[in-house]
Amino acid sequence: MKITDLNRDGGIGSNSMYVEIGETRFIVDAGLNPKIAGYRATPDFSLVEGKQIDFIVITHCHLDHIGSLPILMRNHPEARVLMSHSSQMLIERMLHNSCNVMKRQRAEQNIAEYPLFTHEDVDYIADRFEVVPFCKPVSMGKNGSPIGITLFPAGHVAGAGGLEIAADNQKYFFSGDVLFESQQTLDGARFPLEKRYRAVILETTRGETERPAGKTRESEVERLLKTVVGALRRGGSVLIPVFALGRMQEILTIINNARKEGLVPTCPVFGAGLGLAVADHLDQIAKRTGQVNFTRKTIKELRLRRPPRRLVPGREPPEQGIYILSSGMMVENTPSYGLAASILAQGRNAICFVGYCDPDTPGGKLLETAPGESFVFETFDYQTPVRAQIERFEMSGHADREELLNFALKAEPETVVLTHGDPGARAWFAAALKENNPSLAVVDPKPLVAHTV
Ligand SMILES: [Zn+2]
Ligand SMILES: [Zn+2]
Repeated sequence: MKITDLNRDGGIGSNSMYVEIGETRFIVDAGLNPKIAGYRATPDFSLVEGKQIDFIVITHCHLDHIGSLPILMRNHPEARVLMSHSSQMLIERMLHNSCNVMKRQRAEQNIAEYPLFTHEDVDYIADRFEVVPFCKPVSMGKNGSPIGITLFPAGHVAGAGGLEIAADNQKYFFSGDVLFESQQTLDGARFPLEKRYRAVILETTRGETERPAGKTRESEVERLLKTVVGALRRGGSVLIPVFALGRMQEILTIINNARKEGLVPTCPVFGAGLGLAVADHLDQIAKRTGQVNFTRKTIKELRLRRPPRRLVPGREPPEQGIYILSSGMMVENTPSYGLAASILAQGRNAICFVGYCDPDTPGGKLLETAPGESFVFETFDYQTPVRAQIERFEMSGHADREELLNFALKAEPETVVLTHGDPGARAWFAAALKENNPSLAVVDPKPLVAHTV
């Protein structure tokens, strides 16, 4: 198998791998780099220009894996496009949203190339998505050389799959983005651990993050609930900035279940943003596929309401309660940014971060600001000392590095290819893999350089 990383900048970026097995050519994922603007945010597809691509496999519906799919499919109208049932139900929505965001960015930031694709493009390609059931091999390949493609549930986000490829009596495994632990709304990964793989293509997102001793997902949920209850008892409000897909519904479920157990007092709960639309999709996915444990009943039971439209920086909202709002990184001009400006100046309030925050985003900057220090809300031209309680909780959607290391070692591969991680994260995996198995070949692929594995 020959594998070429099309992600032009390394790091997490725009995930896309070009794979050649005999005469069969296919691509795994076609992402968009969230930190770069314009065409530079796409994978470098120049290498596959003019080549026939037989099929494209999508591991899951996050933009860093699907954001360039309309562009790739425009240039390769012959390619079949395979994904899980849940992914098929989510990707169209995610791409339409991405198109809206790019249109906004074109207007606000003057990015002439945006949008990179239109709503019509998305409607057009969505008809070509083919559903692949989990854990059942699908025969691809051609000219008498069959290639077996199997998706295994990867936790992480609804519909996420790890990809097994069987060809020429060899097996290969792409982890995709993976979470082994179960969440309340989504079961953890079920990868075929007993199998031997010739090569494992491994995500390395958390390679630089050591889980502090004694912290588990359950203990972090417990600490989150305690923080929520503490703020409510002080007569304050709680803001939980959330990503629209998965995290918002997980937090709603955690709060609802805790309330049923009497762990959290009844109070107004507010939700806003794309997450509510995604909640409808997850409800449908739960009913049709059983692959997620979230239904609209949770929203009804919580009597979820929209937050007040007009919030004034420095003035608390008229009603105290729990505000579960996107965006997760508290990006400017989003509901979570507005509410943070409203509650940050009062010590009785709390802001609870439950996902990754890029250091350059307002969320990332707030996490770096010490209590009492000044924080600036640039778009409001408003600044205040940080008085509200600011907490971060380890509830990552990605597996711990030790779990991934164990998975890769147990598969007894000859080669591990590192993907989806910053240079430091990849370096940790390279060293740890070598230390545990000196005969293992570890490849940290340079963009556009083919590796035979
Ligand atoms: Zn992902
Ligand atoms: Zn990713």
